[in-house]
Amino acid sequence: MTELLLAVIVGLVVFQIANLATTVYMHRAAAHKALTLNRPLTFGFRFITWVTVGIKPREWVAVHRKHHAFTDVEGDPHSPKVLGWVRVQLTNVALYRREARNDVTIARYAKDMPQDRWDRVLFDRAWLGLGLGISFLIFLFGPLLGLIAAAVHMSTYLMSNAAVNAVGHRFGKRPYENTATNVLWLALITAGEGWHNNHHAAPTSARIGFKKRQIDFGWWAISTFRLFGMARVRHAQPVLVGRSLEEQVAA
Ligand SMILES: [Zn+2]
Ligand SMILES: [Zn+2]
Repeated sequence: MTELLLAVIVGLVVFQIANLATTVYMHRAAAHKALTLNRPLTFGFRFITWVTVGIKPREWVAVHRKHHAFTDVEGDPHSPKVLGWVRVQLTNVALYRREARNDVTIARYAKDMPQDRWDRVLFDRAWLGLGLGISFLIFLFGPLLGLIAAAVHMSTYLMSNAAVNAVGHRFGKRPYENTATNVLWLALITAGEGWHNNHHAAPTSARIGFKKRQIDFGWWAISTFRLFGMARVRHAQPVLVGRSLEEQVAA
């Protein structure tokens, strides 16, 4: 029983590490250029993304920028307003994959992220990265506990990231005039992504929880990196913007 509990805790820790890489690196830094990370940290996050979720940042960034360009209208890859929130919640991965396979989307929205040598050799090989990550868990905790930890991580990661797209555009508070919502519990499990209404109001802000009580673990991580000179933020304070593509994606 205690071993099972350990496997679940390890899975949740990996889930949070993957969330930090997703929100700090792929979302805030790469997609919106809200902050700049130094080279070792960028490489570290690329490696973490590869072994924990196998997502290609270039594809994630393109799909996400398209979401900002067509938020909750025809063309949004995963709009609950267009598709219904249950469908987005349950099929987010399929919706994401469909858009990520669209070469036009990648060429249009991720032209600043061309494939480099590391992508060709390692990071574009998603199954190799995932295989390495799972093998590492099995090496540390044995086959059964390692696989349980991996399953806990993958299911919580997929469901909570789907929730940002589904719940985060359907339920919750809308302090700013956009279709996204702020949801406390979602922010707590996604390193701040749940303050999604704030984010759509100020996409180039490295900080997504604007108020002190809006807990934003991603921002806490960024603040720590700044202390050590490893990250620079674009704006000292959130800059609210309109809805034009140029302002929203900052690509
Ligand atoms: Zn959104
Ligand atoms: Zn965004």
